[in-house]
Amino acid sequence: MTQFAMTIDGKVVTKTETFNVINPSTGGSAGQCPSGTVDDVNAAVAAAKTAYASWSITSDDVRKQACRDMAAVLAAHANELATLLSTEQGKPRGGLGADFELGGCQVWAGNTAELELPVEVIKDDNEGLIEVHRKPLGVVASITPWNWPLMIGIWHIAPAIRAGNTVVIKPSPYTPLSTLRMVEILNTVLPAGVLNVVTGPDDLGPVLTGHADVAKVTFTGSTETGKKVMASAAGTLKRLTLELGGNDAGILLPDVDPRQIAEGLFWSAFINSGQTCACMKRLYVHDSIYEDVCKEFAAFTANIKVGSGADTNSVLGPIQNAAQLAKVEDLISDAVDQGARIILGGKRSTEAGYIHPLTLIADAKDGMRIVDEEQFGPVLPIIRYSNVEDAIKAANASSMGLGASVWSKDIAAAKKLALRMESGSVWINGHGGLNPNAPFGGVKQSGLGTEFGTEGLKEFTSIQTLHA
Ligand code: NAD
Repeated sequence: MTQFAMTIDGKVVTKTETFNVINPSTGGSAGQCPSGTVDDVNAAVAAAKTAYASWSITSDDVRKQACRDMAAVLAAHANELATLLSTEQGKPRGGLGADFELGGCQVWAGNTAELELPVEVIKDDNEGLIEVHRKPLGVVASITPWNWPLMIGIWHIAPAIRAGNTVVIKPSPYTPLSTLRMVEILNTVLPAGVLNVVTGPDDLGPVLTGHADVAKVTFTGSTETGKKVMASAAGTLKRLTLELGGNDAGILLPDVDPRQIAEGLFWSAFINSGQTCACMKRLYVHDSIYEDVCKEFAAFTANIKVGSGADTNSVLGPIQNAAQLAKVEDLISDAVDQGARIILGGKRSTEAGYIHPLTLIADAKDGMRIVDEEQFGPVLPIIRYSNVEDAIKAANASSMGLGASVWSKDIAAAKKLALRMESGSVWINGHGGLNPNAPFGGVKQSGLGTEFGTEGLKEFTSIQTLHA
């Protein structure tokens, strides 16, 4: 069996104590992960701090090349990493699965090389010179979730390193193995200590996010944990980027063609079996098309194979872990108890692992838990509305504000409504598509700060204003 190891200061660190990582497609083992300790976190932060002294003064060209080199080694090892990712996360290789995630890692790493943060000249005349420079921050702590572990890891790592910081990443204990291997691979093109990884239980998270020598925390995960991370960062006033939960609403206007949009709705709600922060998680449909939308959406979805990530016929994989599966099942049964109608899926068969059928719930209503809470799984509630103002009000009533979408043939009308949605991103006739140059982040309790593009890169810097 492969022995997985942490990488600290460019060195392989194995542990005799390990924990089992479950393959969610089978319930069997995906591998043994080293159980890191507080001492390992301290060693990783110390290594990153030492490396920062030299990495922070490298030229921009060196750091751009590092991003290109990271993209290249990720491409060279994509097959190995995608196999490992599929085994521990559950997503199949094909479609928008593990291979797609590895492709995203390469695109984001490569694109980060092309971003520019030029010196801004505020004043340059006979009276003097004022320039604004962007400086790195120091050691960045990266904490990642289990849904897109490698892509989100790269979203943290690439801009941090490009801006001249050094990194300690701690992946989710549900999906740590692919990150361990990815960091090992990335270390072949980075100086020792620039990128370190520590694995262990959730308890190790606060040790890292509260560490006095960490200057910034970039965290992607649930809102509940994000609040704890924010509190732990207060002691030394760390900089923060928090990408948190969402409960994205989609609103269908009466002029859409239910059959034409069925495939778009499907991917909007069910990419990665619904375990995606900016998935559509509640769908508001006008009364006049409600039954047709339910029928066409269910007809398209019924043909999609959900199964083991190792099965090449699977389009979507299992729910990643037992706790999330239990939450999804609880929300479905609560919705049924409250009078909602299951029009597709609903109950698990006796398949192994955490495989759950794609589930559509009609006659869902605001106030039901399935609508008000983030389900983060392969189930979508469909809510009927008759007045679009009511739909917008309901969509905006959430404490979350990550994404939203409006669907219509009339793009101008959709745009007007889209701009009224309280969300960090809003899409028209789609939901959840990302671009490495387009800022991404949540409003309200979906997060703090921005990722991607120059806006995202700026978050890994501080400003120094020079007066001469
Ligand atoms: P989680 O909050 O349970 O865990 C995320 C990470 O935080 C894990 O690595 C975990 O070990 C670590 N952690 C746990 N307690 C900690 C603490 N006290 N201090 C520091 N770290 C701690 O989230 P999850 O279940 O892994 O991921 C699912 C959630 O992530 C969903 O809510 C989803 O919407 C959200 N998410 C958001 C985005 C985004 O970009 N906004 C992207 C992906 C996932």
